[in-house]
Parts: sequence; structure tokens; C-alpha cells
Amino acid sequence: MAGTLTFDALKKAVSNGEIDTVLTCIIDMQGRLMGKRFHAQHFIDSAYEETHCCNYLLATDLEMYTVEGYASTSWAGGYGDYVMKPDLETLRPVPWLQGTAMVLCDLLDHNTHKPVPHSPRALLKAQVAKLAEMGLSVMAATELEFFLFEKGFEELRKSGYRPLEPISGYNEDYSILQTTREEHVMRPIRNHLYKAGIPIENSKGEAESGQEELNIRYAPALDTADYHTIAKNAVKEIAHMQGHAASFMAKWRPDKVGSATHVHQSLWDSNGTNVFVDPDKQHGMSELMQNYVAGLIKYAPESTYFFAPYINSYKRFQKGSFAPTKTAWSVDNRTAGFRLCGEGTKALRIECRIGGADLNPYLAIAAQLAAGIKGIEDKLPLGAATDGDIYDATGGNEIPINLRDAKDLLKSSSFFREAFGEAVVDHYVRAAEWEIEDFDRAVTDYEIARGFERA
Ligand code: ADP
Repeated sequence: MAGTLTFDALKKAVSNGEIDTVLTCIIDMQGRLMGKRFHAQHFIDSAYEETHCCNYLLATDLEMYTVEGYASTSWAGGYGDYVMKPDLETLRPVPWLQGTAMVLCDLLDHNTHKPVPHSPRALLKAQVAKLAEMGLSVMAATELEFFLFEKGFEELRKSGYRPLEPISGYNEDYSILQTTREEHVMRPIRNHLYKAGIPIENSKGEAESGQEELNIRYAPALDTADYHTIAKNAVKEIAHMQGHAASFMAKWRPDKVGSATHVHQSLWDSNGTNVFVDPDKQHGMSELMQNYVAGLIKYAPESTYFFAPYINSYKRFQKGSFAPTKTAWSVDNRTAGFRLCGEGTKALRIECRIGGADLNPYLAIAAQLAAGIKGIEDKLPLGAATDGDIYDATGGNEIPINLRDAKDLLKSSSFFREAFGEAVVDHYVRAAEWEIEDFDRAVTDYEIARGFERA
């Protein structure tokens, strides 16, 4: 069960005054919740069937700039509407906001009412459907890492994000003492999300000052991406309510480790059996799992854009930082791009460690599924596991070191053009190009400090 409210329960909650507002949200390219706040009565009277939004919501950057060069929408095309179709399975209370419920929507073409192929939810659904045709489903989990800061968003923005002081003064990895001091933020995050039907497992201090990790129990892929997106939004909202900022930037300071989104995956059959498990094979990995992981590795370089969509994302891939630099796989080794977890248990799974905290979980999981499915279809053999310090290992593909390289790899990927469709790949290549063009125009603090006097 994805949400915790049926439509009938919502109607009841509206009539007895418990709910007065329904957030009606789509997921944009950046993985953000965008939408409208409905009066609950209007939602249950009519908007539950459909509402509308400007189709530029899948063609803007983080700043909401109207980026030119997309085939799907433009000034010339008049920036018309998409249909927002509420998925009532995702209806849930939002316990951290008074009298509020939330529903996620699929984006449909205004004329044909068909799913918009480049919309993140549609992209993930298409890959899940492909797996279903093979008699399989995917269980996935995404770990959320982020930093909490001493000050709030407003104060930091007004001071030009200087100085940026994390909420704690030392590396708080697994620290109970320091995380106790952050419980005014983290406890409501865990409990409110749990009450919103999101199966929180735990939170913990991560390996930097001010860094936290939130773990959510694995679930079918679409639920996992929904959980991730709602949780990320909730972390920012609840931190804000407590006077703090939370950031999911992949890397906010060069001398501190970045924040990741590790993606765990296992495939299951219709009997509820994890088909990655075969106790007779090496590391207990079934042939199907070996093919799947070989697909993930083969297509990792051209998938990287979906794990690292911004200029900043690539600053995280540093030797000795727990963020990988190579696509190699390993057995429980945190220096590899792909890590086998749960060896010898029913929870055998593969963890992709490439993604930053800034990824869009729908796109990242869809890219993993496409690559894994191709590995299964082509019965790709899996090479030997790498061990030791994989940063220094020879062999293994390098993860692209910047957005320009990742964009070029995606652009020339015949694999993704077939798996996602030409128009979808062109759309995301344009998003990547824009990030590069925009950054190329910027004059950074780095350039001023280096060149102002001495150049
Ligand atoms: P780590 O050592 O990487 O922190 P955890 O034990 O915290 O690993 O688990 C990470 C995530 O893996 C959790 O969100 C958990 O729900 C998920 N997970 C557990 N079993 C499976 C499985 N079979 N398939 C996919 N994800 C799983």
C-alpha cells in the first residue's frame, strides 16, 4: 500500500474538518514536487479527476528559467498545458502540515491524454512494465544523505550562503551523542513520514559534520521513487520549521565528503521470491543477477547523467571519499561503483553507489532497470569482482568526470535511444546541455580569488 488514505477516508476527513487542503503534485525533471494547493472540498468535488499545469514544468531548470531548445514545448509552441492526473493510490496525509493531505499526479498530454514519455513517473513506469512482461518485479531502496545547517534557508540566502556552518562541529558517523543534538529535526522527520505511510527504517549520522542519512524500507520501484521525493521535500520543510536549512547538493565544500543516493535493487518473481539468490552459485548470485549486474556495469558510463545531473554532481567523485570513481563491482566494498550486499541472505541485492543526493530517483531507477534488463536480454557475462582499494585498481571503466562527458555519452547512446526512445534522450541531453551553457557563462568565486589581482 503506497498511501495511507483512501478517497473515501479523505472525504470523511474533509467533512469532519480534519483535512482542508490537498497538495496536488507532479514530479519535475529535477525530482521536485511541483503543483497546487487545493481546497479539499474542490479536490473531492472535481479536481480528483484531473487538473492542469503549464507544460514548461518539464522544461525548466532549477531556477524555473524557460530554457529554449526543447522539442516538447517552447515559446513558439505557446507553452500550453499538461493534464495532471491524480494517482489516488498515492493519497496520504501530510502530518507535518496542518489539515493537509497530498496526492501525486501523472502527467498526460493535453490532447491525447497519453502519458508524457519524458515525465519521470512515466519513464519509470515504462521500465517497470517491461520487467513485468518478463514476469519480474523490482524491489528498490534509495538512501537519502543530506547536510543540516546551523542557520535557516532565508538567512543563508540573504548572506549569499556565507558562512555556511553545518549543524554539528565534527564527523558524526553513527554518533548517538551528536544525533541526539539533532533530534528536534530528525525525530519529526522520521515520525511524520512514517505517519504519511512512508516506511522509515532509521536515520543515522553520516561521515561528515552535519551530515545525516535517512533510510526507507525497500518497496516496488515506483513507490520507492515516490517515497524518496516526498521524504526529500519533507526534510527541507521540517528542517525549515525548526529554523535550519537542509541541502541535498552533491558537494557543498571541496574539503568535505559529498552526499549520495545509493540505489539498492533486487528482482523478484510473482511468488515473492528474490530471484537474485542462487545458493549454488558464487557469492549466491543467480545467473539472472549476474546478467543484470553486468548490464548495470556495461551501461554505467552512459547512465551517469541520470545519477549526476548537474555540474556540481561531478565534484563528489573523489578518491578516498566513499564516492566511487570506477564502474567496477565488488563484494561489500564501499570503494566500488556497484556493491553486492546481503551475501548469503534472502536480502541479496546490488547497490549502485554512483548517484549523488541531487539525482532524480525516477530517472536513476529507470536507467538502472533499462541497463539491467538489457543485461538479462543479452545474457551478459559478469566479470570477476574487484577488491581492495578500487580507486587505485587497474581496469574497470571510469565514471565520467564531468557533465560534458556524461552528456556526450548519453547523446551517443544507441542503448538509451532504444530503451527510452529518441525524443526522451534528446530531451534530457538538452537539459544537460543547458546546465553546461549556463555554467559556462558564470564567473565563479574561484576565478575571482585566483585571477583578480594576479592574472
Ligand atoms: P547499508 O549498509 O548500505 O547502509 P542497509 O542495511 O542500511 O545498508 O540497507 C540499505 C537499504 O537496502 C535499506 O533501505 C533496505 O530497505 C534496503 N534493502 C534491504 N533488502 C533489500 C532487497 N532485497 N532489495 C532491495 N533493497 C533492499
